[in-house]
Amino acid sequence: MSNFDVNETTTYGTATRGIHAGQEPDPITGAVSTPIYMTSTFKQDGVGGLRHGYDYSRSVNPTRDSFTEQLAAVEGARHAVAFSSGLAAIDVLLRSTLKPGDAILIGNDVYGGTYRLLAKVFVPWGVELDVVDITDPAAVNTALARKSYRYIWVETPSNPLLNITDIALTASLAHEHGTRVVVDNTFASPILQHPLTDGADAVVYSTTKYIGGHSDVVGGAVVTNDDELAQRVMFLQNAAGAVPSPFDSWLDIRGLKTLDLRVRKHSENAMTIAHWLEGHAGVERVWYPGLESHPGHEVAERQMHGGFGGMISVEITGGKEAAERFAASTRLFTLAESLGGVESLIEVPAAMTHMSVSGTALEVPANLVRLSVGIEDVDDLIGDLEGAFEALGK
Ligand SMILES: *Cc1c(COP(=O)(O)O)cnc(C)c1O
Repeated sequence: MSNFDVNETTTYGTATRGIHAGQEPDPITGAVSTPIYMTSTFKQDGVGGLRHGYDYSRSVNPTRDSFTEQLAAVEGARHAVAFSSGLAAIDVLLRSTLKPGDAILIGNDVYGGTYRLLAKVFVPWGVELDVVDITDPAAVNTALARKSYRYIWVETPSNPLLNITDIALTASLAHEHGTRVVVDNTFASPILQHPLTDGADAVVYSTTKYIGGHSDVVGGAVVTNDDELAQRVMFLQNAAGAVPSPFDSWLDIRGLKTLDLRVRKHSENAMTIAHWLEGHAGVERVWYPGLESHPGHEVAERQMHGGFGGMISVEITGGKEAAERFAASTRLFTLAESLGGVESLIEVPAAMTHMSVSGTALEVPANLVRLSVGIEDVDDLIGDLEGAFEALGK
């Protein structure tokens, strides 16, 4: 719809691209906000006489186009393809490019749903799945030397331990073996981390998280510079049909316009809280890539730009029971799954988001509490956490 010049993506900053790319005022009315084209089908001017290529909304919809153009520009990429969830994006990316007999290498700390999709759907379909400590280049190299992998799946910062993988190094190792690298960039968002620039072949997002940013939409996206990969993904997007609605797409558009501003505030609040937690008697260990104590801090400092994100994981003194009581005692931090919204959330991965990896190599500590730090006033958030420690008698 819009005439945002791709060449301008290199001259304008990310915040400007997020607000303007794909957002030309409506040609008929001048509406500044992209209309929600809530239509399943489009009138044809004579058989096959499509207006601007629009025929049916599973295949193509102007509101969705507006979002994918905006996202591609923010990422500085050639293609973005939108889906009805992050997992639908992951499913279509993998299913359109893998076949039975292919192998995929993943880290030992990934989103539970990604692992479930691979282990319970792709493995029975005939895809081989191996797990490695993806943060360790020597371990990755050994695995690559032993077997031929179609993909390495990188999540950095990972969920929930916020482990950091060196994307550029992993990509160079993988490419020597003809293996492609996908980065799940959901936690960092396109503001803080640029995997395609670092050598990744494709990026996936759950737009449900920071891109949507208001806990009101479930969505996903695949972003890539590889024309052939994009064609395959777009073909299966239409053939299988897990597309976002026009309203979902509009919520993604609105979220992406303020992403730059929000992510900076999320990062600033999280850094303050991580430092505060690190000195607290009720805490065994804090996992935040912005802390010098974090094993991936040096890589994160090089690889992330303008902050370390809004996610913190913390091991609470007193085991599983203390962690669950702590998570149920906050007032501003809402006890809920998901992350990346303006409001702070708290959860216990072992009992909630990561139940599907219990008993596997991906199992997480039982006393781990995960915080999605929102953009409220940081003093209020710290007061809320202090109240929860007091409820534990700490
Ligand atoms: C939430 C999430 C997903 C899955 O996305 P949905 O939108 O819930 O399908 C994938 N990866 C990461 C890192 C996530 O946090």
